[in-house]
Amino acid sequence: MPKRVESPSSINTFKQCARKYYYQYLLKLPTLPNIHQIRGNIAHETLEQFYEADVSSFTSENYMGKCRERIQSLLLQSWKKFQPKLRGLPLPPDQERFYFEETMLMLMNWTTHFLQDIQKVMQEKNLPVQEAFKLLTPIREQEFKSEAYSVRGFVDAIRQVGEEVHIIDYKTNNSFEFKDSIKLQLAIYSLLYLEKNGKAPNKVGIFFLRHKLKLWPVDENLLQLARREIELIHAHTSLTEDVKDYPKTVTPLCKWSSGQCDFYEVCRPHEKEIPSTNNLNSNT
Ligand code: SF4
Repeated sequence: MPKRVESPSSINTFKQCARKYYYQYLLKLPTLPNIHQIRGNIAHETLEQFYEADVSSFTSENYMGKCRERIQSLLLQSWKKFQPKLRGLPLPPDQERFYFEETMLMLMNWTTHFLQDIQKVMQEKNLPVQEAFKLLTPIREQEFKSEAYSVRGFVDAIRQVGEEVHIIDYKTNNSFEFKDSIKLQLAIYSLLYLEKNGKAPNKVGIFFLRHKLKLWPVDENLLQLARREIELIHAHTSLTEDVKDYPKTVTPLCKWSSGQCDFYEVCRPHEKEIPSTNNLNSNT
């Protein structure tokens, strides 16, 4: 079987539950949109566009207000743009308002950190606000595609910080932890960056929008983690596409108080499986 093109999310799905990977990436069953994904897309789009600001009228007196106004109006615009998708969710209006306000708070928190950085750069390098803004503007939404590893991914932001390169992903998660799935995602970005640029980034990290930026140094162990997991998934998926080789991992992630896995109904994780004879669809 030819090597499939994987991504940090497909690899993390495979590690979480091989059956879920089978439904999503091999059978390509549709996934259901949810508020967390849509809100994540809105926050990412807002942050990406923030840096496209026309800063010619910014002064050291007005830049803080202008940045705050900009992020607020971009979020409003983006929320409006995503209305057709938001309307497709079973979400009462008061819940939608709650998520909007929560997202606004996260983005205002991010802006406060950005303004602190700008202030620092202006003071330390004695730069006008326009130059400091330019210096802090990262490369955004860059696609990395590796033929050799057969993996692709989109990196939210690549920043040059002095002599160092930092790769940053934005997350709207509640938790402020580097879970294993996040560590693997960052490890894969580091490996893809290394392949493309001949040099690994110095640090990778997550800007947890409810909290702050958390960075992780890139070392050989992190790169090895990415190589190992990429190799493992290719070894498995190149060998078999038989459903029985994609076992269920039944955990509280199958169904929780306010939701369930997208494939819960087709998977029926708590029912005994009927043995099949090599029929891909018979176990669904
Ligand atoms: S319901 Fe549970 S076992 Fe079934 S695919 Fe989803 S996560 Fe895996």
